[in-house]
Amino acid sequence: MMKTLVVMTSGGDAPGMNAAVRAVVRRAIHHGLKVFGVWNGYEGLVRGGDSIRPLAWKDVGGIISRGGTFLGTARSERFRTQEGRRLAAGNLLVCGADALVVIGGDGSLMGAHVLSEEWPEHMAALRPQGAGEEGRASRLHVIGLPGSIDNDLHGADMSIGADTALNHIVHAVDDLTSTAASHQRTFVVETMGRHCGYLALMATLAGAASWVLIPEDELELRWHQKMVRAIQRSRDVGRPHQMVIVAEGARHPDGLPIRCEDVKRILADQLKIDIRITVLGHVQRGGSPTAFDRIMATRLGTAAVDLLLKEPDLHHRHMLGLQKNQVIATPLVEVVEKSRAVRAEIENCNAGRAAEMRGSSFVKTLSLIKKLTRISPAQERRPDGSVALLTGGADAPGMNAAVSVAARCLLNQGITVLGVEAGLSGLVRGNLMELDWNELVGWINRPGSEIGTSRYPFEKEDLPRIAETLNRFHIKGLIAVGGWGTYLNIAELAGRRDAFEALDIPMILIPATIDNNLPCTEFAIGADTALNNIIQAVDKIRHTAGATRRAFVVEVMGRECGFLALMSAMASGGEKAYLPESGISLAELNRDVEVLKESFRGGKRMVIYLRNEHATRRYTTDFIRQLLEEESKGEFEVRTAILGHLQRGGIPSAFDRILASRMGDAAASAMVDALETGSREVQALCFQGRGVSLIPLSEAMEAMDHKRGRPRNQWFMGLVETADCLAMHHPVAPCETRS
Ligand code: ADP
Repeated sequence: MMKTLVVMTSGGDAPGMNAAVRAVVRRAIHHGLKVFGVWNGYEGLVRGGDSIRPLAWKDVGGIISRGGTFLGTARSERFRTQEGRRLAAGNLLVCGADALVVIGGDGSLMGAHVLSEEWPEHMAALRPQGAGEEGRASRLHVIGLPGSIDNDLHGADMSIGADTALNHIVHAVDDLTSTAASHQRTFVVETMGRHCGYLALMATLAGAASWVLIPEDELELRWHQKMVRAIQRSRDVGRPHQMVIVAEGARHPDGLPIRCEDVKRILADQLKIDIRITVLGHVQRGGSPTAFDRIMATRLGTAAVDLLLKEPDLHHRHMLGLQKNQVIATPLVEVVEKSRAVRAEIENCNAGRAAEMRGSSFVKTLSLIKKLTRISPAQERRPDGSVALLTGGADAPGMNAAVSVAARCLLNQGITVLGVEAGLSGLVRGNLMELDWNELVGWINRPGSEIGTSRYPFEKEDLPRIAETLNRFHIKGLIAVGGWGTYLNIAELAGRRDAFEALDIPMILIPATIDNNLPCTEFAIGADTALNNIIQAVDKIRHTAGATRRAFVVEVMGRECGFLALMSAMASGGEKAYLPESGISLAELNRDVEVLKESFRGGKRMVIYLRNEHATRRYTTDFIRQLLEEESKGEFEVRTAILGHLQRGGIPSAFDRILASRMGDAAASAMVDALETGSREVQALCFQGRGVSLIPLSEAMEAMDHKRGRPRNQWFMGLVETADCLAMHHPVAPCETRS
């Protein structure tokens, strides 16, 4: 029977490791297990003594928002030797470990695997008689969690820390772009990634850089000539400032490293332009983790404990990683072998093979970047009409990126692209503008919607005017970026084709709303940025904890969908999420009051409840405040914070820009196909797993619960149990009671 679990972090630190440790510790305590933490990685495991200490529920409170790893990490030469590992095994035996959870990169996972392989041998040497500990003598369960900012591990679409590092890079590229633009300079930016180009690749897409150099790109012998031509072309069409992003591990076709100095020299010699180098270095690994890293780490940490308990007869030696948004277990040996195989291909100058091994999403992103850097405004315009692009409803961060990429891809095909001003009302009034190539490139990181958006109450009298606008501007296709209101409007337009011939054109919807309440798509553009905005605000609220005990009710957006409330509670360590899916009952509020009192008496200083704006109609945020205040009997204070529009503001996150770029590209390709084949389908784009695909709008409409205003199937509701379990509702945890 599983009784004791040991958790540690190892190798390079990665933001989100703390969230993983917190989840492991709390889930294990929840199931009645005893937990020990190892300080300073394998070195601590070898050293033993004070480096291995029991961890209680409260020991992992308040760490979810912190960067690095509170357990510390180190590289250990001693653990590489069998004698070192014997000492480690002895220390694990002393604390009665049944399982070890290691959060780290491939080196750390390899170490865990080797220890588990040698375990019977170590046990035989340490306890020759077995001493009645049959199970423990024969095996040590080990579970690895992928912790690496480089995102270079097989078996995980994303490793813990990669999203945070990517956002740091993208923000740095934004900052450098503004100074580059002021001085008409070109910057060569070096990112981390000794053996993996993931960070450089995604930062290029999200930062609208002009060129990228990564170890997985099959370069031609004269690759630099192509780069020079691309930069020159971009300058010719009116963009005098450029970004070139170089991954640390980029190589020439002969295997020699490409250094930023080389790139600078080539560009300066041939173009005679002002060039600066910026090496981003360790800022990429630092800082508070993003919402994505915190949530993924929490999911993986919880799943590790669940897996250990689910099948006690199996010998667990797996790494858990998210693949297509599902937690999947892969044997540790396979993870290490396949991750190292990619590295070997790079070292053997088989860059193309290495890219394939990274997976289809990596290859597709590389080809999208090449397409975007190659394309330029086509000189020849097709005479047969234009495509209109509109953003509808409330603005969502990333809308501009979708418009920018879709429009550039269409312009490249010689199609005239018109931006509809201020949403559907622009079509009614005939307010459209031709989109300019150069301006579009700079839109990638802009908040809001540059062409303007509005919530337009659609009326029947508007139809002839819309048809007239479509005719007047020769519009042969429509791409709409927006939320549920926009879906309804487009469905309505498509439904009136019989009456208005001008409406009989292909239409494509791109899902964009911070509420993430759209059918058939796991993520809509804008939701990731909003989530990050919320957790940053909640982190700040938590920092205000002072001498007085305080409960905060933080109201977040989401309409009838609890995505933002649930995920932000999970990512910020919020003690409770009130969701519209489950509503709020008086009985529940009564229970919450009691738990709250108990928590404060137990020493807690701050409790944060996240309430979705429509969780219930009458138990409003202010009602909950008054109720708690009344019941507190002066034991604690209650405050509210209604985050409102700051949730939708600010520059889009890396994920939102990448999602928007992929969707913009997919929409443009589908539109070009439709114009060529004469198809007049009305379709919606979706993001599921890692892929972007198109479905008929009718299918999306059926997947929506129209009465409730949210999709029938909401994947994140499967995380409610995890979020509840890790929050405060275990004031006295089973393990602590026993000891
Ligand atoms: P990362 O886990 O980030 O890849 P490292 O490669 O430095 O970082 O590995 C972290 C630690 O894991 C090493 O310092 C060492 O103690 C242990 N380790 C790595 N490879 C092995 C191995 N083959 N056998 C035993 N221990 C290893």
